[in-house]
Amino acid sequence: MQFHMNGFKPGDPDEFEPAAGRARVNGANGLPEKVDVLVAGCGPAGLCLAAQLAAYPEIAAMIVDLKDGPMEKGQADGINVRSMEMFQAFGFADKVKREAMWINETTFWTPDPDHPEAIRRVGRVQDVEDGLSEMPHVLINQARVHDMYLDLMRNSPSRLEPDYCLQVVDVVVDPTATEYPATVTLERTDPDRVGQTETVRANYVVGCDGARSKVRQAIGGSLHGDAAHQAWGVMDVLAVTDFPDFRMKAIIQSRTDGNILLLPREGGYLVRLYVELDKLDETERVADRGLSIDSIVAKAKRILHPYAFDVKDVVWWSIYEIGHRLTDKFDDVPAGQGNNQKPRVFTAGDACHTHSPKAGQGMNVSMGDTFNLGWKLISVLTDRAEPDLLHSYSQERRAAAQGLIDYDHKWSRIVSATPGKTDPSDTSMPRFQRQFIDGARFTAGLTVQYECSALTGQGVWQGLAKGFEIGTRFHSAPVVRLADAKPMQLGHSIEAGIRWTLFAFTPQDDTDLRSLCDYLGANPASPMAKFRREGDEADTVIDLRAVYQQGFREIEFANMHPLLKPVKGRFGLTDYEKLFCADAKNGEDIFDMRGVDRDKGCLVIVRPDQYVAQVLPLDAHAALSAFFDGILKPARG
Ligand SMILES: Cc1cc2nc3c(=O)[nH]c(=O)nc-3n(C[C@H](O)[C@H](O)[C@H](O)COP(=O)(O)OP(=O)(O)OC[C@H]3O[C@@H](n4cnc5c(N)ncnc54)[C@H](O)[C@@H]3O)c2cc1C
Repeated sequence: MQFHMNGFKPGDPDEFEPAAGRARVNGANGLPEKVDVLVAGCGPAGLCLAAQLAAYPEIAAMIVDLKDGPMEKGQADGINVRSMEMFQAFGFADKVKREAMWINETTFWTPDPDHPEAIRRVGRVQDVEDGLSEMPHVLINQARVHDMYLDLMRNSPSRLEPDYCLQVVDVVVDPTATEYPATVTLERTDPDRVGQTETVRANYVVGCDGARSKVRQAIGGSLHGDAAHQAWGVMDVLAVTDFPDFRMKAIIQSRTDGNILLLPREGGYLVRLYVELDKLDETERVADRGLSIDSIVAKAKRILHPYAFDVKDVVWWSIYEIGHRLTDKFDDVPAGQGNNQKPRVFTAGDACHTHSPKAGQGMNVSMGDTFNLGWKLISVLTDRAEPDLLHSYSQERRAAAQGLIDYDHKWSRIVSATPGKTDPSDTSMPRFQRQFIDGARFTAGLTVQYECSALTGQGVWQGLAKGFEIGTRFHSAPVVRLADAKPMQLGHSIEAGIRWTLFAFTPQDDTDLRSLCDYLGANPASPMAKFRREGDEADTVIDLRAVYQQGFREIEFANMHPLLKPVKGRFGLTDYEKLFCADAKNGEDIFDMRGVDRDKGCLVIVRPDQYVAQVLPLDAHAALSAFFDGILKPARG
């Protein structure tokens, strides 16, 4: 991380100076009359968005929740590798890695054919295939993820804090208003003022208010899909057992009692069990069954037979019914009205898609939604992009959510199928193990691929870097930073915000890179010149970084192009962190690992949300400028 740019900064580098004249102004009721963005809901989706907004104190943001304070336990716990990559951009991946349970191996259990009332282990697989990501798959209480975002907000230049005890009850948008067109009605939920209503006007409203979203209802959205008519129980417990895989993720199918997904949790002792309970009738609701924690424990004991399972403490439990549901649109623009109307209200997370927790995707996909939306909203609100950019949120994320619902359907069916079945095309392992392996990239969060659009280029030059697939997340690889010989992941140079990264992979002869730098540095049509405003650093919006094939001892930092050694801040200090070399210590280097053409090199454009936007030849200067002309607004004056 970099700090001290504008003078020595004592203390915790994660704690920013509060910005002078922050944008929120409160009225007599303690609430602002107007905000740029009102976020409804302090779940993973809402907090992920608020943490991004908080870094821009010029944006007046507000996040509300009907609850009276932060969550302490329960709900989701699965963090896939893609979310960990995102956490890296926020700066708290290391903290999560230290605290969380790492899922390294998954085991599979079915009834023993010789003693069908008992279970036996029939398979095991490495949970995350080698090379998929530098990040682990981890489990951690959803509340701790909330805490990480709340810390970011608290330490941000905006010092953003949630407003609790406020429930969004309605949102009305005035289509004729250009400023603060959305009026949000908030109902107080604290005992002293329960039922009292307040209004706040907003430029944008984002409904991250869960499956029963009021924001979704206010814009006429509804969830479509089906229910599996199956009750499930989930419990976080401290227990004593002789079940051998108690610290592995285990998928357990019993002969007649249903199945269990067992997840060891952070801290070394805690464990979560998802337990299949009763089949429900078509019209029946899960609450009608009167199921309790005792029902979950009793069922778990039967499924785990012959192993003992003695629950000592129940930390949290819940009973739920699975529904696979999706909304038509993630914003308030009616279908076909994209040219006439700009979105003002969005929904994200469970507010627009619900699914079973068994594939461990709820928290991940929800944060993925608002990581997609955050940089777009900030770019528009800071006048660096036209509001048209916001249409892409619904287009991109609805397709991603549809993929989730489809996968979830398939996985839920297979887990609940008759135990012991094999796939006709592969009889070497049970079907649920086969499906788990086939779906590994999906559950890791790595199958999202945004379609070709203004933000995601066509694949004309994809051959120059086959492993940086356009539309997919930037797949990091090891490099060595030239200036200080630090071995690191190239992708870890990307931070959350609105900055686009240009990774220039250079041939042995760096003439093309130098020409590119000349163009970017001096030509007024180049994106680094055109979109740089007065007061911006060289890399505020477009961040050029170069990767050389040579080892770090073979080239000299002093000989590098000045654009790759930008001077920044009030002292004109040099930024030493833009240059990288291949790291061949483990045989393959980044050029081999990601199929980068060594003779020609290439430019990989990465979006602020870490997705590959385009691959271009190093000398495609006009194409590079044209790409950004389609997205960013030129600096004025
Ligand atoms: C009770 C429960 C148990 C769950 N258990 C599991 C589980 O075991 N495993 C798993 O993987 N997933 C579980 N989930 C799902 C998982 O937590 C979600 O997929 C994930 O949290 C989605 O994040 P989100 O931010 O979209 O919504 P949520 O986490 O649901 O957050 C929504 C937030 O909005 C607030 N809110 C709601 N309505 C309003 C309103 N009108 N105004 C203001 N605030 C409002 C809520 O209080 C909440 O804080 C559970 C969800 C719930 C609700």
